[in-house]
Amino acid sequence: MKIAFIGLGNMGLPMALNLLKAGHLVTGFDLVKSQLDLFTAAGGAIAPDLKTAAKDAEVLISMLPASKHVEGLYLGEEGLLANTNPKTLLIDCSTISPKVAQAVATKAKAKGFAMIDAPVSGGTAGAQAGTLTFMVGGDASDVERAHPLLEKMGKNIFHAGASGAGQTVKVCNNMILGIQMLGTSEALRLGIANGIDPKVLSDIISKSSGRNWALELYNPCPGVMENVPSSKGYAGGFGVDLMLKDLGLAVENAEGLGASVPLGELAKQLYETHSKAGNGQLDFSSVFNLK
Ligand code: NAD
Repeated sequence: MKIAFIGLGNMGLPMALNLLKAGHLVTGFDLVKSQLDLFTAAGGAIAPDLKTAAKDAEVLISMLPASKHVEGLYLGEEGLLANTNPKTLLIDCSTISPKVAQAVATKAKAKGFAMIDAPVSGGTAGAQAGTLTFMVGGDASDVERAHPLLEKMGKNIFHAGASGAGQTVKVCNNMILGIQMLGTSEALRLGIANGIDPKVLSDIISKSSGRNWALELYNPCPGVMENVPSSKGYAGGFGVDLMLKDLGLAVENAEGLGASVPLGELAKQLYETHSKAGNGQLDFSSVFNLK
């Protein structure tokens, strides 16, 4: 299958590589040259611009940072909806506002495109291993069409509901993750302040009622776990500013509905403080160092 993959960042690059490994013809495009170089070094083809990447693609997948990037990619005179064959199945895997996802999909549908929102969970390790969880919003027939490709990048593929529903589930998931990482960091720091070895502490809590994903698979304390951002100077992974964006989406969504998310709001403030201290590009587990 001919696939255009737009956004070859921390997540997009390994996802595109898994499609390549599965035997698909993948043409990648990113605004950053170093990301394009990584893709070509691994055997991928790249396009000089967006329109060339999208030309002849049967499926186009986007993996961009935030709502404004997705709106910029698809909408407007220079956007994909105005310049691509409507037979192309559009799959947006970025984490963005459910409302924006819905609005872009509605505009896509009006032009004859099939489009689904398919944000992911599982981090860069999941993207590399092809074990991501996909939370998909859109028409069942379009989700069915995308399924064979999503399977090459993920292990669990859930149809959450209509357009935007995948994003709503993702926003709820990441609100838990943001709060959980802060709580895990606080508890580890408290144990360390008491003189307990963070590895021993983590091993015990991993088998106790405080166990959670951040502790067991993404431990924020340097040296406890190999191959996680905390043991690589918090490089790569899932950026503080991306987590801040997702908590912003959660709080904005709650405000729109009159729902109460006090912990989500507090978590947003804490990541904001951490970002403003110059840590926005570090992995979000670096909140371990927030004093
Ligand atoms: P990233 O910043 O590493 O990558 C985004 C890439 O998109 C960059 O390489 C950037 O140059 C490129 N880009 C931006 N605008 C573009 C455009 N118009 N055309 C082409 N390329 C463009 O971000 P990431 O960590 O890969 O995250 C991508 C999305 O996935 C975000 O919405 C994030 O919230 C979500 N997400 C990330 C993780 C994670 O662990 N990193 C996990 C789950 C979901």
